[in-house]
Amino acid sequence: MNALIERLRDGLPEDAVLTDPDVTGSYAHDMASFCPAGTPAVVVLPRTVEQVRHVMRTATALRVPVVPQGARTGLSGGANAVDGCIVLSLVRMDRVLEVDPVDRIAVVEPGVVNADLSRAVAEAGLCYPPDPSSWEQCTIGGNIGTASGGLCCVKYGVTAEYVLGLDVVLADGRLMSTGRRTAKGVAGYDLTRLFVGSEGTLGVVVGATLALRPRPPRQLALAAEFPSVAAAGDAVCRIMAAGHTPALLELMDRTTLRAVNELTRMGLPESTEALLLAAFDTPDPAADLAAVGDLCSAAGASEVVPAEDEAESAMLLQARRSALVALEAIRGTMLIDDVCVPRSRLADMLQGVEAIAEKNDLTIGVCAHAGDGNTHPVVCFDGRDPQEARRAQSSFEEIMALGLELGGTITGEHGVGVLKKEWMARELGPVAMEVQRGIKQVLDPLGLLNPGKLF
Ligand SMILES: Cc1cc2nc3c(=O)[nH]c(=O)nc-3n(C[C@H](O)[C@H](O)[C@H](O)COP(=O)(O)OP(=O)(O)OC[C@H]3O[C@@H](n4cnc5c(N)ncnc54)[C@H](O)[C@@H]3O)c2cc1C
Repeated sequence: MNALIERLRDGLPEDAVLTDPDVTGSYAHDMASFCPAGTPAVVVLPRTVEQVRHVMRTATALRVPVVPQGARTGLSGGANAVDGCIVLSLVRMDRVLEVDPVDRIAVVEPGVVNADLSRAVAEAGLCYPPDPSSWEQCTIGGNIGTASGGLCCVKYGVTAEYVLGLDVVLADGRLMSTGRRTAKGVAGYDLTRLFVGSEGTLGVVVGATLALRPRPPRQLALAAEFPSVAAAGDAVCRIMAAGHTPALLELMDRTTLRAVNELTRMGLPESTEALLLAAFDTPDPAADLAAVGDLCSAAGASEVVPAEDEAESAMLLQARRSALVALEAIRGTMLIDDVCVPRSRLADMLQGVEAIAEKNDLTIGVCAHAGDGNTHPVVCFDGRDPQEARRAQSSFEEIMALGLELGGTITGEHGVGVLKKEWMARELGPVAMEVQRGIKQVLDPLGLLNPGKLF
């Protein structure tokens, strides 16, 4: 242990190596419940690429596992420590190095907070679309690690579509650049895409070249109330089939609406079974909202309320962004599913979740990036009650099974981490698992990078 700390200190400033167990313990896990986390030997907070390389060379020389971390807002245990590991926190590498309005790119360090990047590029009339609800905390490195999505991905796409190139420190400390800063580029295998969503198991992202878009015009939203989640799911299908391009299409069920009201006192309608939020940033958002309002009514909406102005639209979005935090307060503990189904099967998924909640006698609140078919059924329970916890675990798994049955995936955006690793093999099958393990073996032959995640 002393040898490890001494060697790390050889290439890092004193304040970048934390060993006090009270402090290092606070880096042990992300925000997922029910995921095992070990005790780190040390936490390091490098500021430069060279310092990250030093950490990885040291880890390889001494055969010590390394867990890369961003802001630890992950929801799958992907950033959880393992016993005796080096936690490699990238949060101090937080500079936006370049914003280029001609090439429409930003070059950033991994610890830049998502919303800070949005604010920085807005000054140049640009935007970085992937916007997880946690955008005020989560980092670009973490977004790349989990291939995260967000609210406006229904129109603009997810993180993978915006990462053009990466600088990655490999397990043995070598620095590799992947990808490009050009609009096109097809030289060799797409290693950039391989690292997006690799959950810190293949290398440490120390720099990223990201695509930007022109800042869209003002966004206007509407809220539609439905007598059932299935009717709201039907409205989503009608909206997409009619060729609309909403900038977001989000759903909250009654449990979620109540929980958000409890937390924020926003006064959202509680008598309705599901609320659908749609927003447009098109040249004439009011006309698009009117057309979508009609489709919602045709699908059975009891009420369609367009926001009066941008401020009211922003308030509706804020309600949706608060959903997960609000749901956690219901019973103290939650298991968050992240099943994404083809949007044509959304209504079946939502109805199935209701049936699972009833069967297991549990509260399951659902919020969803409905336009993507990406549902977040949140199993709310009292973690101190072993029976309830068992029923919660079983509901969590039944929801994943249902998602696969409907042609979906166990994780649309939160990643596998430790929470869903037993389920990854069920989704991918033996041949794909073998190839995945082979890739891991090539890039991390000693198995030092984020062990116990994915596999
Ligand atoms: C309230 C709330 C709302 C959320 N809403 C969304 C949402 O709408 N959409 C969504 O997709 N997610 C959402 N999340 C989940 C989470 O915020 C995202 O997964 C986010 O991308 C994690 O970023 P982070 O900086 O916290 O990374 P961490 O949690 O620290 O790490 C996540 C993973 O990335 C790896 N990693 C981190 N940095 C690096 C790096 N530099 N190099 C290599 N690997 C790295 C870690 O090892 C880990 O496997 C939400 C979470 C919360 C708490």
